[in-house]
Amino acid sequence: MNKRSTLLFGLITAAGMGLACLTMSCSSATDPAKPAAADSAKEEEHVPLGKAQLQAALNEPVGKITKTDEEWKKSLTAEQYDILRQAGTEPAFSGDYKSHGPGIYRCAGCNLPLYNAAAKYDSGTGWPSFYQAIAPGHVLEKADNSYGMTRTEVLCARCGGHLGHVFNDGPKPTGLRYCMNSPALKFEKAVPEKKAPVAETKNAKLEKATFAAGCFWSMEAIFKQLKGVTKVEPGYSGGTLKNPSYEQVEYGNTGHAETVDITFDPKVISYEDLLEVLLTVRNPTTLDKQGPDEGPQYRSVIFYHDAAQQKAANEVIARFTANKVWTDPIVTKVEPFSAFYRAEEYHLDYYNKHPDQPYCANVVAPEIKEFQEKFKDKLK
Ligand SMILES: [Zn+2]
Repeated sequence: MNKRSTLLFGLITAAGMGLACLTMSCSSATDPAKPAAADSAKEEEHVPLGKAQLQAALNEPVGKITKTDEEWKKSLTAEQYDILRQAGTEPAFSGDYKSHGPGIYRCAGCNLPLYNAAAKYDSGTGWPSFYQAIAPGHVLEKADNSYGMTRTEVLCARCGGHLGHVFNDGPKPTGLRYCMNSPALKFEKAVPEKKAPVAETKNAKLEKATFAAGCFWSMEAIFKQLKGVTKVEPGYSGGTLKNPSYEQVEYGNTGHAETVDITFDPKVISYEDLLEVLLTVRNPTTLDKQGPDEGPQYRSVIFYHDAAQQKAANEVIARFTANKVWTDPIVTKVEPFSAFYRAEEYHLDYYNKHPDQPYCANVVAPEIKEFQEKFKDKLK
């Protein structure tokens, strides 16, 4: 009945030690030569990698750079030249392999963005390791049969510099281990995002909209993306029990439906706009059913906060009906708001925190994609 697994799909960070970058300098995680972890990075203040910084990196054209050997020698240190241009390998645990926090790893030869620090993990090999490249086409792969081994060499797609090798013993989700040489990389730290200038002012008079229409993970993720929406909380409304738990709502007869409580600036987005999104992205024609979820806790209800909202809800439903937006009759209820009980902490921002959870990946993600396509001009 409960179709969701709340298991967290964390990354499996333990990778096999069998294949290091080069067997000549192969070390294991328990190598006594490994220096004590004096991790000064821990004390640093880290900010998350913002969308703008990541997007700017992804927007950089890959292009091609060719230089003569002499030119490379001039622009690189001896160590960088040895690795990038002569396919050298730094000894394990000798380089800068530890975590630096959020940011972007670029090619030390040409500055091409190669890896998001979010894909970096501790492989225990003593080389910086990543489970995927920042974008397809930023690194190239080439068969390498040197030293009597069959390996896959990884090269920078812009300058052709040798970066390291890729192996099949990495963690989920790719199972790959991009084993890099630290002198071939340079790190760009995540910088604090500049707040986008929005029409919302600090003194804006905010309003509430409260909607139920199936799974609140999905509803929260969708409405959060709209310009003018300042807060979305998942919770329960429409029932009788005070402070219900998720389990009581799912299995009991509390009368509550999974609901989202939306705070918005009406100067930026109107209540009618929110209703249009609701009645477009959620199916308002199926009683007690939304996608794979069935039961009264998934019913669709517009909980109006005042007479103006009630009128707007009835008008938008009438317009959608007249325009035959849906083939079947719209059965969404329009009911007065009475109380909203915020869901348990672990439900908050669930989709964004657990995009790989099966329900999120298989049900929520396609709904969000469709929503983003239909309401492009209303997104933050
Ligand atoms: Zn490069």
